[in-house]
Amino acid sequence: MNAPSEHTLSEHKATNRGSGAERRVEKTTCYMCACRCGIDVHLEGDQVRYIGGNRDHPVNKGVLCAKGSAGIMQHYSPARLRKPLKRVGKRGENRFEEIEWEEALDMATAWLARARATSPKRLAFFTGRDQSQSLTSFWAQQFGTPNYAAHGGFCSVNMATAGIYTIGGAFWEFGQPDWDRTKLFLLFGVAEDHDSNPIKAGISKLKQRGVRVVSVNPIRTGYSAVADDWFGIRPGTDGLLVLSLIHELMRNGRVDLDYLMRYSNAAWLVIDRPGAADDGLFLRDDDGKPLMLDRDSGKPVTATKHPSLKGRLELPEGGSARPSFELIAETALDPAYAPEAVAGETGIGADRIRALAAEIGRVAFEEEIRIDQPWTDMDGEQHDGFTGRPVAFHAMRGISAHSNGFQTCRALHLLQVLIGAVDCPGGFRFEPPYPKPVDVHPKPTGAGVSGRILPNQPLAGPHLGFPRGPEDLLLDDDGKAIRIDKAFSWDAPLSAHGMMHMVIANAFNRDPYPVDVLFLYMANMAWNSSMNTAGTMEMLTATDDDGNYIIPKIIYSDAYASEMVAYADLVLPDTTYLERHDCISLLDRPIAEPDMVADAIRWPVIEPDRDVRGFQTVLIDLGARLGLPGFVGEDGAPTYDDYADYMVNHLRKPGIGPLAGFRGVDGKSAGRGDINPDQLDRYIANGSFWSQEIPEEARFFKFANRAYQDFAVEMGFFDKPAPVTFQLYLEPLQKFRLAAQGHGDRQPPEHLRQRIADTFTPLPRWYPPFEGQGIEDADFPLHALTQRPMAMYHSWGSQNAWLRQIHTANAMHIPAGLFDEMELRDGDLVDVVSHHGRIRVPVKRMAAVNDRTIWTWNAIGKRSGAWNLSPDAPEAEKGFLLNHLIHELLPDRGDGERHANSDPITGQAAWFDLRVRLEKVRDGDTARTMPRFAAQPPLDGAPPQPAASAWHPDRTRRT
Ligand code: SF4
Repeated sequence: MNAPSEHTLSEHKATNRGSGAERRVEKTTCYMCACRCGIDVHLEGDQVRYIGGNRDHPVNKGVLCAKGSAGIMQHYSPARLRKPLKRVGKRGENRFEEIEWEEALDMATAWLARARATSPKRLAFFTGRDQSQSLTSFWAQQFGTPNYAAHGGFCSVNMATAGIYTIGGAFWEFGQPDWDRTKLFLLFGVAEDHDSNPIKAGISKLKQRGVRVVSVNPIRTGYSAVADDWFGIRPGTDGLLVLSLIHELMRNGRVDLDYLMRYSNAAWLVIDRPGAADDGLFLRDDDGKPLMLDRDSGKPVTATKHPSLKGRLELPEGGSARPSFELIAETALDPAYAPEAVAGETGIGADRIRALAAEIGRVAFEEEIRIDQPWTDMDGEQHDGFTGRPVAFHAMRGISAHSNGFQTCRALHLLQVLIGAVDCPGGFRFEPPYPKPVDVHPKPTGAGVSGRILPNQPLAGPHLGFPRGPEDLLLDDDGKAIRIDKAFSWDAPLSAHGMMHMVIANAFNRDPYPVDVLFLYMANMAWNSSMNTAGTMEMLTATDDDGNYIIPKIIYSDAYASEMVAYADLVLPDTTYLERHDCISLLDRPIAEPDMVADAIRWPVIEPDRDVRGFQTVLIDLGARLGLPGFVGEDGAPTYDDYADYMVNHLRKPGIGPLAGFRGVDGKSAGRGDINPDQLDRYIANGSFWSQEIPEEARFFKFANRAYQDFAVEMGFFDKPAPVTFQLYLEPLQKFRLAAQGHGDRQPPEHLRQRIADTFTPLPRWYPPFEGQGIEDADFPLHALTQRPMAMYHSWGSQNAWLRQIHTANAMHIPAGLFDEMELRDGDLVDVVSHHGRIRVPVKRMAAVNDRTIWTWNAIGKRSGAWNLSPDAPEAEKGFLLNHLIHELLPDRGDGERHANSDPITGQAAWFDLRVRLEKVRDGDTARTMPRFAAQPPLDGAPPQPAASAWHPDRTRRT
């Protein structure tokens, strides 16, 4: 065991801390949202006084947002948990007994050990806003359960998965617009809580240069409010708009053919043999290499400088093959995607669509950028500069959280590649360690080395991965899902982030099997993180005929008294982000920039004043108590003291650990290198981050740039060069489609055949969102959306005294025309009704919203008494959740089958497919929002949080 970092850390603290009320500034990493900016924490004695931005940090360069500066109130929140808790009342009653850590860890170990000895799959371990998935997934793998994932399945897996499969990376943590060079910026469906400072700083740069910003979003708030042009699109039709833009660009020849031939599969030949088992697959040689037509010889070859993008090759065994570009052109030029044809559905006029397409084409091809930097591609061809098409895109959950979201995100990437704007000057730029082709990502694992899940055996590989075809699905011998959430089953074959939103319902239904322990971290599943919130609470408390809970044990870890705490049997209190070690790792969710690779840490800039422990340290402790391989040595002794020790001494493979910086005994190695016992001190001395610039010749076209690929291998992103060929035509989808047509050993169940055949098209196509297909338009004519405001992040913000003053309650924003037609006044209560439920909410008139869409801020509404808010806090009295209207299943189709309310390809929760109607309140309670749930009593001894306006940290300081 190695833990030499500990004493040096304490020395560092001692020299910095001094005594009494000495002032000092410590540098760590923000956790008030997912951007992970560098922060300067100003301390006075043992008190946090102020948080500022770290000017040297690569992510924020000193900029701090409102959330970041309000971190001080997160740290002093009265909602903080203070000690391990054992349930003494019934689930949901919020009655607990404080216990010592030893008892808590003994209980958890006993429950987990029993599950592992029975069958490891009896544990379902899921995490929410966790930023340590490289550790949590490793732990779950060593435990042996297939039932692990984080919250991506209900966040933005469509975006991530479509991006990885198509271009080897995606928006958000995989890359960013070239803010310094782009000349046209298009933003699709971005809410302002995510990717906060970087986008704000980027848009500021664009404004200073006079660059046009276009926002496509049903709601004009945040970034859309400062856009030069706003397209108030109807929810769920973004894919239709993007395909119409492609239609116009193709029709006008605004396509970068050279880029397509060099870097995409546009020339690869697709077999055209309807009814055959290989119809729609790529024509390959005997070694499996895809073939293309050589323009000079007309022959099929595996490599040529002159591939043909059109033509037909007759095949000796019957049928023919055509370059995929011909299929792309046919799809894109389908009259169904003409601007006039999509105008009605999208709510965007044909003239505006045509004008936007023309502007994209003009900027891409008439305002080309050159950077005179010689570089060499993967074929050894030398180029004297980088050519850029300066149109940049960014997109997020708004286009992703629909049942057609995967194909919409694919369409957007197709558009980027067609105009040659991926990883070029002025376009979208990858951030290391991306791009990575699908081939270097793992396939999902659902069993141990024996091919089965055996008691006390680890899993043979990581849970989450990227299936290449039906053969990679996680199905048992009977064709049933191996995972409790049914990820990687026929329900959602490419569910690369799991399906956390299905876990509780499936565990309750014991479908595909029961679990013994539900172990959750930072996931408020009893409130705003679940669809069908009331139903979820019932499932968490449901008992069998003998009075035993159907989900027998629930362990929950969080720093705060969220709604979920009340439903746990055992609560493991986490620290705040200023009291903990964390690892912002390249193995996990990177924070790199297009021109530099970077990672970062958090460390305890202040000691906890409560009996709490960092969750990751607790997990490592549990791993050792359970004797999990990797967490104990051969002698059974713990491998790591705590998370800090793990961050320094864990090796994922030789020379590769959680942190890439300051490796090697002298701390001078980067990426790969021996363990450096002083690594954390080096990070702290460097402002809690590490960065290294990418060589000039490696900064663009990373997917095909020899110098970048060499750099990536040197850094340990992969062991040999892994260039990316953009997969415009996505063959894995066709493999699932062929199965749905009856080919192959693995066949989907009958009730899913047609859906797979219709939606798994290897080229993006638009289909209407599922919820709308299952209801009558006249009954539910409106769309209803939620988004997080800029000042909040997930449910955390509404217990933060400063942020509460910005958003204390929410209203339902109603389009002005409808508002006037219904003769409403601001503050009136109306009923909003979906196929699943009814809520009563206050309304507000708004002009800048799609005229068929109502919307509200998400997770402002709180359950009375939760988060240690006063029971009559505005968040409980006036705030509300839209989640009560959303069901995890689609409307009953009358055939006995109810599909998940998810994307059929990735399983992404389709939050934004919700359809509703408004009803004026004519009787009953017209004073309060509804539904109302019994108030959760405050945890014993916890001081209720005062009203939103009367807050200062000094008044709640505990000694
Ligand atoms: S953008 Fe996010 S990480 Fe950065 S300061 Fe704001 S809350 Fe913190």
